[in-house]
Amino acid sequence: MRAVDLIRKKRDSGEHTREEIDFLISGYTRGEIPDYQISAWLMAAWLRGLNRFEIAALTESMLYSGEVLNLADLPGRKVDKHSTGGVGDKTSLILAPIVAAGGLTVPMISGRGLGHTGGTLDKLEAIPSFNVNLTLEEFRRVLKECGMGLIGQTAEIAPADKKIYALRDVTATIENAGLICASIMSKKLAEGIDALVLDVKTGCGAFMKREEDAVRLAEVMVETGKRMGKKTVALITDMDQPLGRTAGHAIEIAECIEVLSGRGPGDLRELSIELSAWMFYLGERTKSVDEGRQLAGTMIASGQAKEKFKQGIRLQGGDDRVINEPQRLPAARSHAEVPSPMKGYIAATNCEQFGIALAILGGGREKKEDTIDHAVGLEFRKRIGDRVEKGEPLATIHYNSDGKLAEAKSLIAESYLIGESAPSGERPLIRRILGA
Ligand code: URA
Repeated sequence: MRAVDLIRKKRDSGEHTREEIDFLISGYTRGEIPDYQISAWLMAAWLRGLNRFEIAALTESMLYSGEVLNLADLPGRKVDKHSTGGVGDKTSLILAPIVAAGGLTVPMISGRGLGHTGGTLDKLEAIPSFNVNLTLEEFRRVLKECGMGLIGQTAEIAPADKKIYALRDVTATIENAGLICASIMSKKLAEGIDALVLDVKTGCGAFMKREEDAVRLAEVMVETGKRMGKKTVALITDMDQPLGRTAGHAIEIAECIEVLSGRGPGDLRELSIELSAWMFYLGERTKSVDEGRQLAGTMIASGQAKEKFKQGIRLQGGDDRVINEPQRLPAARSHAEVPSPMKGYIAATNCEQFGIALAILGGGREKKEDTIDHAVGLEFRKRIGDRVEKGEPLATIHYNSDGKLAEAKSLIAESYLIGESAPSGERPLIRRILGA
């Protein structure tokens, strides 16, 4: 078999066999197939699509590119959540401590920023000295001690996703249901979990812009999870505007600490509690989702979730003083407001552009080798439906490089669509639930 023939086959709309997919994935993981050939294959797969059989084969091939963790020796049920990605999407850092404080184990394998969306690992690295590269032994020890651990794909767990994820980020091959399903489910199924909650984002800040595409992605992921014996539920949630009030790395960590302290923006708090509630329910910690909501609320109100986050940070080598002194997080040198060009109401946002503006400021990667500036960030001062006066700030930009400010500023200004009257209709944060 040759990679070039498989690229041509997919380019010409052919359907792969399981052996062909295994050849590509194992060859790439071992370093025998180069980046440029897998990039070409990814683009062919993106353009031509993958059928259900190919998606299942790709997911399994990526899953078995490494080890599947057996956490049976750890007490209690193991549950996790994964989001398909959005702007300001930081719920993992809130719900992991909530759910661990509530008595379940959360062995979370996360990703870095992908396209215009932020990544949990990059956010965590904004905490001074936080180590996302634990060995498996260290990961187990952390899980045993505090019930939560947050690491990246390693040479041992989901190595194929580690390599392919980094490549997709910089080759415009992200927004494809098959590639997203294989990426997410290969990591999650390697974790040794009993149950999984999926947050499938839809809207202009998500990879799946149309709700029907998000539903299709959710269906294929729920089907994969169930086929592999995991209780799996998917919540289709709104990403037509950023989640919470911030996007960036240090600035999002600070917002998570706010929510864990019983404050913070309502939408972020609501979604974090809802996802935690499903985790409690699927993990059989509560008898209903409603009881799960109450438990999540108690974990915040009692301070136990915040204490758990602090413990988790300490055990992964991070500076846990950030919990009470968020000023210890990296801060940008300057900030600038983005004034509204007119008065009216925020009718919509072009949410993806906010993520691109953040990347331009240094908060994202253009090439695999790029490093992230954890200090830059955006604060959103207006949300859909809000009234705005001419000249009033729409957003605040935290930046380090003067040269990048103008482009980011105009991108953000253009991304708020302002109308004369308030937009009508409900904007539910949770649009649908699948697999319940
Ligand atoms: N999150 C992932 O882990 N992979 C994707 O492809 C998209 C979101």
